[in-house]
Amino acid sequence: MTVEETLKPLFEEINRLKPKFIQRLADAVAIPSVSGDESLRPEVFKMSQFLKSELESLGASDIQLKPLGIQPPPVVDPKLELPPIVLARFGSDPKKKTLLIYGHYDVQPALIEDGWNTDPFKLIEVNDKLYGRGSTDDKGPVIGWLNSIEAHKNLGIELPVNLVCCFEGMEESGSIGLDELVAAEANAYFKGVDTVCISDNYWLGTKKPVLTYGLRGCNYYQVSIKGPGADLHSGIFGGVIHEPMTDLFNIMSTMVDTSGKILIPGVNEMVAPVTEKEAKLYENIEFDVDELNLASGSNTAIYQTKKDILMHRWRYPSLSIHGIEGAFYGGGAKTVIPAKVIGKFSIRTVPDMDSKTLDKLVIDFLNEKFKALGSPNTCVVELIHDGAYWVSDPYNDSFEAAKKATKLVWNVDPDLTREGGSIPITLTFEEQLKTNVLLLPMGKGDDGAHSINEKIDVANYIEGVKTLSAYLHYYGA
Ligand SMILES: [Zn+2]
Repeated sequence: MTVEETLKPLFEEINRLKPKFIQRLADAVAIPSVSGDESLRPEVFKMSQFLKSELESLGASDIQLKPLGIQPPPVVDPKLELPPIVLARFGSDPKKKTLLIYGHYDVQPALIEDGWNTDPFKLIEVNDKLYGRGSTDDKGPVIGWLNSIEAHKNLGIELPVNLVCCFEGMEESGSIGLDELVAAEANAYFKGVDTVCISDNYWLGTKKPVLTYGLRGCNYYQVSIKGPGADLHSGIFGGVIHEPMTDLFNIMSTMVDTSGKILIPGVNEMVAPVTEKEAKLYENIEFDVDELNLASGSNTAIYQTKKDILMHRWRYPSLSIHGIEGAFYGGGAKTVIPAKVIGKFSIRTVPDMDSKTLDKLVIDFLNEKFKALGSPNTCVVELIHDGAYWVSDPYNDSFEAAKKATKLVWNVDPDLTREGGSIPITLTFEEQLKTNVLLLPMGKGDDGAHSINEKIDVANYIEGVKTLSAYLHYYGA
């Protein structure tokens, strides 16, 4: 039988099970598993139990709820337990490829007072959209995998791959404990994993499905300038001392121009050149400047063409200035001279930038600029956080399988996209399991993950289950 012949009855079964699949998502959404709210931690645990019982009834083997211990500070309850990582298997046939699927069962906070039109933890269908916290991020995709398994089970169709499930409950709170768990299980529970599929991002827009093959990294810095022993009054000290804030403005203004060009020598030189093949990828992507303006709520775009915008979001670095700690920021006209100010900025990184080299370039550059001011104040530049970029080969087996699956279900070739932000777990899996990762999103760009009135379109949810199923079969073939 061809893959398409196998999939035909499977898709019919998925259509038939639609009401049940929606109910299963409703049951999941009804558990307010907000990882960032300590008082709701029992609900996060309840959600892990919900998954456990669903996995059991679908016939999973070796189900384990891996405890992660006590949550490190800052916490109100010093004995607060981290929710477990839920592991499960379907099949362990050495002749089949093994696919690890990752998703998270915790959600962002949501209160009706925030502006939701309906109770965020009661899934409601309006105009073919399913509203509720977690509907798209990330309960929809997690439940989507379970739905696919159920359709297979009902028809007695064997899964074409061995599946390893890894569902975590702290994603919205920094994935505490996940790195260590993945490292610890790399040669144990996750041994033999051939590839990883993560369904936890979104289409770029609302019309065309996408597969995501790259993410930017982020190096976050701070520059602290200290002078007087305490905050001073400008009527007494203005004009007679070196002011830390003036020094800070002077040096920070030299890092980037108003068109976003990074002015620190050596940074742009590290960026990988655009190949012809890569440039071609941008031609058919569904996106335009209006979408950027709509998303930013303004007419402030630096670039006006699709290709320029997307390339600068995805494959070129950017430098953003985020804030100044210690500065006067209230209303009114306070005449203070702050004694110490700390400027915060970050650089979104891309291939082939070397993180350590970047740190040196940035720190040396700012120290030199500060020295040139001839100020007696002190200046310290430091890296406070870094996370690497990720780029995959969008022509590997896993991506090719996902392209076929998308084409079959949606009748259109998916756009190959990258994202300007980071999903740190992607790199964790790639590095620890020494394998490649595919980001296969289910929801649309306007789903409002993390926002009020989060939703997933019924079509994305149901066709998404078909896409995941088809992906399994093309990848397994
Ligand atoms: Zn998510």
